[in-house]
Amino acid sequence: MEDQESQEIILNGIGGSPGICIGKAYLVDKEGVDVVKKYIVRESFLSAEVGRFKTAVKKARESLRQIIDNTPEELRQHAQILETHMLLFKDKMLYDRTIEVIEKERVNAEWALKKVVSLVKPMFENMTNDYLKQRAEDITHVADRIMENLVGGDHVNIARIDKRVILVARDLSPAETSQIQLERIKGFVTNRGGRASHTSIIARTLEIPAVLGVGNATLKINNDDIIIVDGGAGTVVVNPTEQTLLATEERREQYEIHKALMVRNSYLPAETKNGQRISVMGNIELPEEVVSLLDHGGDGIGLYRTEFQYLSRTDFPSENSLFENYKDVIDVMGHRPVTIRTLDINGDKAVNYIRDNQEPNPALGLRAIRYCLRKPDIFQTQLRAILRAAAYGNVRILLPLISGIEEVEQAFEQIDEAAETLEKQGVAYKRDIPVGVMIEVPSAAVTADILAEKADFFSIGTNDLIQYTLAIDRGNRHVAHLHQPLHPAILRLIKGTCDAAKANGIPTYMCGEMAAEPIFAPILLGLGVNELSMNPQTIPVVKNAIRSIDTTGIDGFMEEMMRLTTPNAIQDLLAHQFGSVVPRIGISEQER
Ligand code: PEP
Ligand code: MG
Repeated sequence: MEDQESQEIILNGIGGSPGICIGKAYLVDKEGVDVVKKYIVRESFLSAEVGRFKTAVKKARESLRQIIDNTPEELRQHAQILETHMLLFKDKMLYDRTIEVIEKERVNAEWALKKVVSLVKPMFENMTNDYLKQRAEDITHVADRIMENLVGGDHVNIARIDKRVILVARDLSPAETSQIQLERIKGFVTNRGGRASHTSIIARTLEIPAVLGVGNATLKINNDDIIIVDGGAGTVVVNPTEQTLLATEERREQYEIHKALMVRNSYLPAETKNGQRISVMGNIELPEEVVSLLDHGGDGIGLYRTEFQYLSRTDFPSENSLFENYKDVIDVMGHRPVTIRTLDINGDKAVNYIRDNQEPNPALGLRAIRYCLRKPDIFQTQLRAILRAAAYGNVRILLPLISGIEEVEQAFEQIDEAAETLEKQGVAYKRDIPVGVMIEVPSAAVTADILAEKADFFSIGTNDLIQYTLAIDRGNRHVAHLHQPLHPAILRLIKGTCDAAKANGIPTYMCGEMAAEPIFAPILLGLGVNELSMNPQTIPVVKNAIRSIDTTGIDGFMEEMMRLTTPNAIQDLLAHQFGSVVPRIGISEQER
């Protein structure tokens, strides 16, 4: 017991998703090459080992050939990079040398491959020619594919984990996180990532506790260590003492009781004490989340992030599969609004079958609407599916990452074209639906008066608006403390957007994570946001907060707040004025 107590360590990170879980750690190593073990192969087995390597190369080539063949016509020209990879599989430096190392050093194929890559890669990296430098990346991709076949399966086998565990990883991509099976994974801890990252958002939607940005979690935590993940506090306790375990269990129960109480009242409308009513909607990534959204009292879907249907696949989905997916959601939602956002891929949501998405600055690259306008076929497929599904319910379209009016006009043209095609084909559809613009790029907020003339509504995406306005990578733990929704620049942009919308007679909604912080509700009501949308799990908490607010005389408070110069001063005023009715300040200590 002495020993065990002395081993307890506490790691601090960023609270990604609230809740507490206790369980055994399960380390997943994304860059699987690092966990490769070396062993000596007996002389008589050497040719079998070489054969194993050749089979792994063959399988890797076949799967890559399949990807190339499935690349849609419009992307074919970019498939040439993959053709280069096909050649590299049999490259002398990689293929022949690996076989040579297996035979000469009598080692296993994984180790030989790893050794050869570590020798060859720097040769390319040190070249002055940019094109050749780039080949270092290609070598890594090709070697990774071979390694996957040698070690048997994907590096991150999240979908295949069959024990009740807590995942510990250097990083998890949004696609990987969306594979998490709730009955197996209790929570997760990552070295990288921030609260506004998509990984964090998905964890909140899945309602599993998560701590991100721990820095050294994969070094400090070993497989099978007992760990406590507190997603609210942003802490991880490794090898907790019995005393810590008992205290945590008590806190966990308290948390669950509090949550149950909130959920029980979630069917009540979000109406302030003085009778101001506001819709509280849910953000979803997958159709299955609709049930949870309704269970948590959501008034509709304020944001359907449709890109997840494009991730974790080998090819673009068909119009029919998209249509079925949207219709399933619409059928469950009945008359309630369903806001379908058009594809927001790339950035941190890279699709692995698009091979031309290696951009130096993905967040500033060919993302979202920019990608869709560049690839009209892909856009048309989705728009037709949305318009067809719209015939069955109360659908809105939402355009992501708009930076100026021309993109809105082009998107409207695309929507009209989709409708015309359906009309000609005699397929049932509905074109007369609201089309809104996401305000998540500073230029859109600044030109909201121009955009309001075309848009039917605005939806403010604070995750990206904060990222781009304050120049903070939303997934980078080192700058997570600068992710400040109460920064005067952000509040001014929100105010300007709401004012422009009001002047043009259109509503402003908010679907970024700022909407999910109960303490911000008074400000958002005061600024004139007409509807809030958030991860379903938070709906009851925000509804509860709204019911305890009185917005009489809020204009005076807003004027005083807008004169303040720092986020801290604004936070203090907010806590002073509304802290008693909304006691829980949602942002974690690390982020303030
Ligand atoms: C946002 O940027 O605030 C938003 C809601 O979109 P996403 O988080 O999907 O980028
Ligand atoms: Mg966004």
